[in-house]
Amino acid sequence: MPTSRSVIVLGGGLAGLSAAQKFTEAGWTVTVIEERSEVGGLASSYESDGYTYDLGPHRLYSNLDSLNEHFKVVLDGNWDYRDRLSRIFMKGAFFDYPLKASNVLQLSPWLIFRSFFDYIVVRIRNAITPIPDDNFENWVIKRFGRTLYELFFGTYTRKAWGIPCTQISADWANQRISLLSLWDTVKKTLFKPKNVPRTYVTRFLYPKTGGIGALSLGYQRLIEQEGGTVICGASVRSLDSEGSQITAVHYEKDGAQHSASADLVVSTLPLTMLVPMLGERVPVEATEAVQGLIHKGIVFVYLMLDRETLTPDHWVYIPEEHIAVHRISEFTNFSRDCAPPGKTMVCAEITSTNGDKYWTMEDDDLIKLAAENLAELKLLDPSELKDGGFVRRVDYAYPIYDLTYRGHVRTLIEYLRTFSNMVSTGRQGLFRYGNMDHSVAMGHAVARRILEDSAIDHEQIAAGDEYFG
Ligand SMILES: Cc1cc2nc3c(=O)[nH]c(=O)nc-3n(C[C@H](O)[C@H](O)[C@H](O)COP(=O)(O)OP(=O)(O)OC[C@H]3O[C@@H](n4cnc5c(N)ncnc54)[C@H](O)[C@@H]3O)c2cc1C
Repeated sequence: MPTSRSVIVLGGGLAGLSAAQKFTEAGWTVTVIEERSEVGGLASSYESDGYTYDLGPHRLYSNLDSLNEHFKVVLDGNWDYRDRLSRIFMKGAFFDYPLKASNVLQLSPWLIFRSFFDYIVVRIRNAITPIPDDNFENWVIKRFGRTLYELFFGTYTRKAWGIPCTQISADWANQRISLLSLWDTVKKTLFKPKNVPRTYVTRFLYPKTGGIGALSLGYQRLIEQEGGTVICGASVRSLDSEGSQITAVHYEKDGAQHSASADLVVSTLPLTMLVPMLGERVPVEATEAVQGLIHKGIVFVYLMLDRETLTPDHWVYIPEEHIAVHRISEFTNFSRDCAPPGKTMVCAEITSTNGDKYWTMEDDDLIKLAAENLAELKLLDPSELKDGGFVRRVDYAYPIYDLTYRGHVRTLIEYLRTFSNMVSTGRQGLFRYGNMDHSVAMGHAVARRILEDSAIDHEQIAAGDEYFG
């Protein structure tokens, strides 16, 4: 058994909170330091004028039954199941997401012919000279042909990440496209097999009240009940080290400087933020790796509508490239409790990088732009926007899996392993494009590895080819 009995957790998102809860349960002295005024990180919820809203759509689900049961305990009865509806809106029509073969039949006869013709050509080409899975574009074209790639996959991905698909790693396709190929799509539509290798989540958990942030508040409640401390509004600025030990964490709260130390530090801060906080001893290759990693932020534009509902969907993807908004979601379809009676709210997402044209655009202009985008698609009549809207900007929303990210992440993780009393985990701490359940599993894995001295490896969670849909 290790002798350490105190831990400082940097970041109060789901990874940090879930780890902290396990340590408090085991009797450790736990302090969580969170920059924002509330816990939850990317899975936070907010309330305004009778509306409850999240940072984009959040469906809660794990492939592990034990984790789903754990979520129900943390939510303390405040949960319900939802039957998922998410679609693609393109060329004036809704298409299923994930795609079904019948969707291809919704296209014009010429596009249907081209889709199947391209697919056959690419399969023959691949049989003669195998197309490498060396980037997102090749991965999709090899499995679906160029026409479907351009229509359904390429345009959306290019628009959302703002870089050409030849510069995006095939890892992303592996984890985010449920279908194996056009042929797989046809088979699944015609024969509806029982045991499909990559199923997507059809039913998920969602809090009855309070939005997805209720999960993080549940963790905070459990941590505090067991004697742990959660400090919000406290921003970690730097860490001191001696040899292989982190000796102090310095943070700022309400303009005052504070320091804390503990036997163990669990960091869920972005890797690119944590490493520079270690000061001058950081080796050059780690500094270069930090510079090589890219994050995307999101501008969330919330539109309050004077109607019961806009679409029945939980979320809708909008691939058309001339439209800035790439996805909309409607929280009243997750829980009717998210808006006053007779009203709804649409969250329109625009991926953006801190400082770019959407990031710096005035809020009123963003609201106008989102409303005009949805009006152009004939999804919304701007006259329904009686109650207006507001905007939130979130940095570090997505780690970008480009062609070099793996090497950079490896360099940083290897450097951080030189500290014997610090672990970096979570979506940000591993630069891992995972879901909420993955972050919780990472938090639990870190705690179990230390508390039970087990070999469980948090770095392997959400690292493989499994589908995350
Ligand atoms: C738009 C969107 C939609 C999503 N939809 C889904 C979904 O449907 N289903 C699903 O399962 N997952 C979804 N996810 C993913 C999910 O939200 C995340 O994987 C999960 O919430 C990440 O938790 P985390 O604790 O690992 O990281 P984070 O939530 O990023 O937590 C890191 C924490 O560190 C804090 N922090 C940062 N810097 C400092 C500092 N200097 N000092 C102190 N604190 C600091 C941050 O404020 C944050 O609270 C979605 C994500 C996004 C962006």
